[in-house]
Amino acid sequence: AEPNSTPAAPKFVLTPEADISTIVEAARARYNTGVTRSLSWRKNQLRALFRMFDENESVFLEASHKDMAKHHNETWAYDVLILKNEIVDALENLDSWSKPERVDPGLPNMLDTAEIRRDPFGLCLVIGAWNYPYQLTLGPMMAAIAAGNAVIVKPSEVASHAAAAMAHFLPKYLDPVLFPVVNGGVPETTALLKIRFDHIFYTGNGFVGKIVAAAAAKNLTPCVLELGGKSPVIIDETADLAIAAKRVMWAKSINCGQTCVAPDYVLVPRGKVDAFAAACKDAVLDLYGENPKTNSHYPRVITKRQFDRLTDVLDKQKAIGTTKVAVGGETDASDLYIAPTVLTGVSGSDPVMEDEIFGPLLPILPTDSVNECIDFVRAREKPLALYVFSKNQKVVDDVLARTDSGNAVVNDLLMNMTIPNLPFGGVGASGSGKYHGKAGFDTYTHTRSYLQCPAGMDLVTMPRYPKMAYSNGGR
Ligand code: NAD
Repeated sequence: AEPNSTPAAPKFVLTPEADISTIVEAARARYNTGVTRSLSWRKNQLRALFRMFDENESVFLEASHKDMAKHHNETWAYDVLILKNEIVDALENLDSWSKPERVDPGLPNMLDTAEIRRDPFGLCLVIGAWNYPYQLTLGPMMAAIAAGNAVIVKPSEVASHAAAAMAHFLPKYLDPVLFPVVNGGVPETTALLKIRFDHIFYTGNGFVGKIVAAAAAKNLTPCVLELGGKSPVIIDETADLAIAAKRVMWAKSINCGQTCVAPDYVLVPRGKVDAFAAACKDAVLDLYGENPKTNSHYPRVITKRQFDRLTDVLDKQKAIGTTKVAVGGETDASDLYIAPTVLTGVSGSDPVMEDEIFGPLLPILPTDSVNECIDFVRAREKPLALYVFSKNQKVVDDVLARTDSGNAVVNDLLMNMTIPNLPFGGVGASGSGKYHGKAGFDTYTHTRSYLQCPAGMDLVTMPRYPKMAYSNGGR
């Protein structure tokens, strides 16, 4: 569908800070009634969430278009569909995921029932990010619902149209007391983080991740941190450069490079750098044509602040004599446009290699061996994703055995995100905790050990008591 004629967009309304504690207390009180324990109740909530997207799809798609000129098809495929698949997966598997597991109590407890129960944590807080607002906010929420929790939902205020759409529709479809939306930025999130939750799930940058983790630690609240980092691509001598370039440029350009698992930089055999850069140029031409700016499938940077950050890094990098803009390089502040841009002549200590890029700039760094690539990656923080392009399985195995990353994909990128059976999350600086599919259910579940003993038959308990009680006999 083309982005035009859709129903009126919901307005972004800040949740008054004074209301936040009342909202949270109401959710806790309702959670304490036990209503979320019923599996059929949870399934009805999940079905309602699915319906919410089905019945209001154009509003959700248009909201992301307003936020960052994201094409409806892109939002549908990489934000809404991924979430819907996760909902279907949870609906199909909830019975088996949640089933208590009988375990052998052992000889001394042979008359008892011993089992592992899958219990919810209770009242959870989900703090979402702006770049894929639906799946990053409602994905954790839906895993929490599947596991029987109540959730306070805090979408990112940066994608304000998407946040407004979620705040508008969620209470119309889901239990509004158990799953309220709090809309706001730093003050509202800070107010939320002062409250004691049973679980916190945060997606965003590592700086704020530390603030969230510190707030959680004050209450000994478990938390999941879905953060970012510089995700490398390693290309070896055997890789098909045209295929690698097309997949890399696709993964770097969707959402205008503002994807947590976007390739951040590419390590290419020294003699192949120019050929790979040329293949990247062809790939951009294939994907977006001569001028991506006029192609409605190419989105924009989310805010002027992010635009300034990215163009500043680009300018600093261009000021280094050796750096060449091999592809793109055009920017337009009035439109927050940055072309898919490939840079060569970059070294590991350059400005563009300092922080996660999170935009459509792709540095290519020359390397002399796979060992050098491994050392390069190992010398930096553990990334959220690592990509290898090679036809040599020994190279693939070696890279995987000697590096670490939250996710690893060989000869492709990003597609692991679409598979509910693959847990998603970071490691080290790129985060902790996993979700998607059963991993999401498990993240929101604690395994409660359960032992039920016969109410009578005291005689069998005698051996545990001091000798006196033993000799007095049992009841
Ligand atoms: P953002 O600005 O939307 O911030 C995320 C959330 O943190 C928002 O809800 C925001 O309101 C809240 N927040 C911001 N400042 C805060 C503060 N001082 N105290 C409390 N809460 C605060 O998103 P962002 O951080 O710009 O997102 C980009 C980063 O997130 C990148 O590093 C990216 O790699 C990472 N990311 C990771 C994943 C993942 O799944 N691992 C997904 C998307 C983005």
